[in-house]
Amino acid sequence: MKVKLLRVTDDGVNLVANSARVSGVPESMDEKSIVRMIVENDYSSALEHIVFTFDISDISIAISRELLEHRIASHTARSTRYNIEEGFGFVNPLEYIPEIETIVGKDAEKEFLKAMEDARKHYIRIYRILEKYSNSIAKEVARYVLPVAAHTHYVWTVNARSLINFLMLRLCVRAAPEMRELAKKIREIVVEIYPEIFSGIGCRGYTLGICPENEARPKNCPYRKLIKTKKEVKKQTKIRDISKDLYHYL
Ligand SMILES: Cc1cc2nc3c(=O)[nH]c(=O)nc-3n(C[C@H](O)[C@H](O)[C@H](O)COP(=O)(O)OP(=O)(O)OC[C@H]3O[C@@H](n4cnc5c(N)ncnc54)[C@H](O)[C@@H]3O)c2cc1C
Repeated sequence: MKVKLLRVTDDGVNLVANSARVSGVPESMDEKSIVRMIVENDYSSALEHIVFTFDISDISIAISRELLEHRIASHTARSTRYNIEEGFGFVNPLEYIPEIETIVGKDAEKEFLKAMEDARKHYIRIYRILEKYSNSIAKEVARYVLPVAAHTHYVWTVNARSLINFLMLRLCVRAAPEMRELAKKIREIVVEIYPEIFSGIGCRGYTLGICPENEARPKNCPYRKLIKTKKEVKKQTKIRDISKDLYHYL
């Protein structure tokens, strides 16, 4: 997996702070404090003025589908219709869970690598047969044997607000290991550029101080003992009838 930053909004702290000042943030507050307050209090629309473009390559088609689920972003993908995928590279998902080898040995990996080799062979055989008829039809048809492990390549543009949402969801231990790796790499890049925005961003539990995963929270969550679930916090508040509170100011 390779992640490269292609572009980012320049002087974004100034841009976001000045945008927030338009809405009435006190002039006396310095730029970094304004941005930190916006992130902490989730007054996040001003963060949309900062935009990142990443070049993301050697990820699997499997997680590219997950990337596409993040609709508040712009995606451009390598086409399997217009490129020949002979000898395609692929992601070995077992590399993201190395501990599995100590439990089940190497058998699953051997099967997996054989399946990739077979898919490569079938891909090019189908392509060679059909290219006599039409090169574009050959690519069009052969691509249907590509596994979801096959490498793909994206250019991904996302604003800082949507990126926070992405990181909170995909840094969670419940996220797919390859997707989590992508989120970690992206976080490393953006923390370096805008620490005021991203240094406090982790999974949803870490960022919000409360984990919405409830029962689905896995045992390997590092914050299990430190951060309460949403259900636990709600139980503690003992609020029974919200309708009375809703009209408190009337
Ligand atoms: C651990 C994990 C497991 C998952 N499992 C599944 C699964 O089994 N199946 C599956 O299909 N997906 C699954 N997802 C994907 C998930 O449901 C989201 O589609 C994905 O994380 C994108 O999040 P998002 O909608 O917040 O992002 P974006 O699409 O970028 O949207 C950002 C925000 O904009 C708002 N928004 C965007 N579009 C709309 C809209 N149409 N209407 C109203 N508000 C909108 C929402 O507030 C949203 O949070 C999983 C995600 C994670 C992290």
